[in-house]
Amino acid sequence: MRYISTRGTAPVLNFEEAMLSGLARDGGLYVPETIPQMSLTEIAALEGLSYEAIAYRVMRPFVGDVFTDAEFEGIIERAYAGFGHAARAPLKQLDQGHFLLELFHGPTLAFKDFAMQLIGQMFQTALGRKGERVTIVGATSGDTGSAAIEAFRGLDNVDVFILYPHGRISEVQRRQMTTPTESNVHALAMDGDFDDCQARLKDMFNDFEFRDGVRLAGVNSINWGRVLAQVVYYFSAAVALGAPHRPVSFTVPTGNFGDIFAGYIAKRMGLPIDQLVVATNQNDILHRCLSGRGYHKGDTVPSISPSMDIQVSSNFERALFDAYDREAPAIVQLMDELKAGGFEVSQGAMQVLQQHYLSGRASEAETMATITETLARSGELLCPHSAVGVKVAEELRVTGTPMITLATAHPAKFPDAVEKASGQHPPLPARMGDLYERSERVSRVPNDLAALIAHIKGQIPA
Ligand SMILES: *Cc1c(COP(=O)(O)O)cnc(C)c1O
Repeated sequence: MRYISTRGTAPVLNFEEAMLSGLARDGGLYVPETIPQMSLTEIAALEGLSYEAIAYRVMRPFVGDVFTDAEFEGIIERAYAGFGHAARAPLKQLDQGHFLLELFHGPTLAFKDFAMQLIGQMFQTALGRKGERVTIVGATSGDTGSAAIEAFRGLDNVDVFILYPHGRISEVQRRQMTTPTESNVHALAMDGDFDDCQARLKDMFNDFEFRDGVRLAGVNSINWGRVLAQVVYYFSAAVALGAPHRPVSFTVPTGNFGDIFAGYIAKRMGLPIDQLVVATNQNDILHRCLSGRGYHKGDTVPSISPSMDIQVSSNFERALFDAYDREAPAIVQLMDELKAGGFEVSQGAMQVLQQHYLSGRASEAETMATITETLARSGELLCPHSAVGVKVAEELRVTGTPMITLATAHPAKFPDAVEKASGQHPPLPARMGDLYERSERVSRVPNDLAALIAHIKGQIPA
């Protein structure tokens, strides 16, 4: 399996190289040259298998010969062993025909653990065998960073640096990043918002001297390995509700477009998905774009669903690449226009996008009301991100096709908003009950490339 860049000029790589490098050297994102197909018979055969067994069958063709069968099986086993639920991604019924896919039973209580735990194990196996050490730098709106630090803490061939926007993440998110004591993980509180963090991260990857000097590796949601890991639960959930014999729909609380893009890949592989719904909060650039109003950056307005507070949705580039019939020069031009503020999508590409994705938005008030109402109607306490999904799903779902809304985080990760809406304080699961007592370790850093590079170089063991 070969991976190509959305911008057309970076080297073609295999799975291991694409995973270890993250961002392509031409600034693009890696995508598989062709999408492996699963027949209806192969999908039907997933019924009744464990999450791990489904993960193996769905991901195996993308990995090629990078790992042996036994290595890949071991990687998957170890990745999900620390989850707090035997089903890994259990389904709960909310209403007639509406289901919640609980993706928050991993060690940091958000769906990011599904991908990050797997990536950690894949890095460990790939680097260990080569005897190499890499530096991972990531930017986070909260959940990616904690998942990355949790996945890589104590591994002996990686140093991890996570940039987060100072003062703009929840206390639980911050503490999950600042309390691990292992010396190979570093939390960096940067002045600015998440888009600033993401922009400085891109700058670091485009500084080839730094990139090659510290062997920079990326695990942000643009990493193909992460998208791939997320494809699995679309299959496990759909099959549990009767696929491939009947189609299902999904609604996905969306920020960087990684999770929803994994759903698109599942569909392209052959999973019968009817609606694939992008749910945004008040930072609704994706909803505006998918409604035909162009992709134009505004200011990010902080919300109660901070992991979706975004203007530049990185993985959307992958969706555009397919919508533009994989014409890299068209993507290069759009991304140039985006630097200057935004772009219009061509009519043909818009048709392709709208054929695959529906979209909706939830305001802050609607999100709060959904938390309140869902608790009353079904006894489920939703995190604000999941509530955005449930609200939009209720609006767009059609009778006759089961709708599966992705619950992307545990309510205890965002206790203030949840308590305000529901009157209930969501308790942390017992295994992380002492989070508020542990001491914190964090460096405050400016929104400045040179200063960041100097800081990171200073922290890496010689
Ligand atoms: C990251 C995140 C999202 C957004 O997912 P994307 O893949 O970036 O679209 C939604 N909800 C939560 C809780 C998250 O952590």
